[in-house]
Amino acid sequence: MHSLNADLHCHSTVSDGTLSPEQLAQRAKACGVALWALTDHDEVAGQHRAAAAARAVGLDYLCGVEISVTFAEQTVHIVGLGIDPDDEALCRGLAATRAGRDRRARAIGDSLAAVGIDGALDGAQALAGNPEMVTRTHFARWLVATGFCRDGHEVFRKYLVRGKPGYVAHQWATLREAVQWIGGAGGIAVIAHPGRYKVSGSEEWALFEEFKAHGGRAVEVLTASHGDAEVARYAARAREHGLLASRGSDFHAPGESRVDLGALPALPDGLTPVWSELQARIARAA
Ligand code: AMP
Ligand code: MN
Ligand code: MN
Ligand code: MN
Repeated sequence: MHSLNADLHCHSTVSDGTLSPEQLAQRAKACGVALWALTDHDEVAGQHRAAAAARAVGLDYLCGVEISVTFAEQTVHIVGLGIDPDDEALCRGLAATRAGRDRRARAIGDSLAAVGIDGALDGAQALAGNPEMVTRTHFARWLVATGFCRDGHEVFRKYLVRGKPGYVAHQWATLREAVQWIGGAGGIAVIAHPGRYKVSGSEEWALFEEFKAHGGRAVEVLTASHGDAEVARYAARAREHGLLASRGSDFHAPGESRVDLGALPALPDGLTPVWSELQARIARAA
């Protein structure tokens, strides 16, 4: 069960990935993934396509989503696994979460124009596969394509982050809403990439405890942005807080994402994989 090649976090053109759900299914299969979930930001429109494509290539599949949340004035991401993508409350909640993106994208464009970078909004919109999902990733790709920055790393150091041009504060869903939408849709809520949040030890503790109080059950221990120290830290947190452990590459694009689909190591010993509690929600390959 531990050594199963599960990849339960990645993005398609429905949010800020560059591959379609079908291309991702083929790539996951070629990379040796056995159990796959597509987890687009704030959107489930790719789920039926992903499930059908998984079936066609012979992959077990879990429906997924990654919800943007504001917690302690930080953006935190909550992944939902094993959800019913047609659940009405979930779909309504995600639509409301997406609704502010258009205005935010305009404000990001204005903020970049104020430092002499013109055309960013049009550029980002042209790169977005889904007009409701213009993300910072699309601005970052445009800033690299036009030569303003060498790579995404430089973009997220100089622009689009707090205190820098192109940063626009935004209120996403609440932690309670995200966890409840996921649970109401039959899924398990997972704290995504906890090592990325710039929070103090006590804020992190509060995040984990509030997440659990709302019904959250799992944490991503293995993800591309975790080094060995973060893997050990969040394996310990999973044991302390009694959370299930997840594994997901957070793959967005060939040549851009450091870790390919299915390429993470196995979960550390002594953890219960989140998929052990999702057996009934898995769509089995024929
Ligand atoms: P948004 O939801 O519009 O704020 O965009 C968030 C997305 O930007 C994330 O899902 C990542 O794909 C990308 N992103 C955020 N921070 C970084 C970073 N430091 N390096 C690379 N990509 C990042
Ligand atoms: Mn992303
Ligand atoms: Mn994320
Ligand atoms: Mn992600």
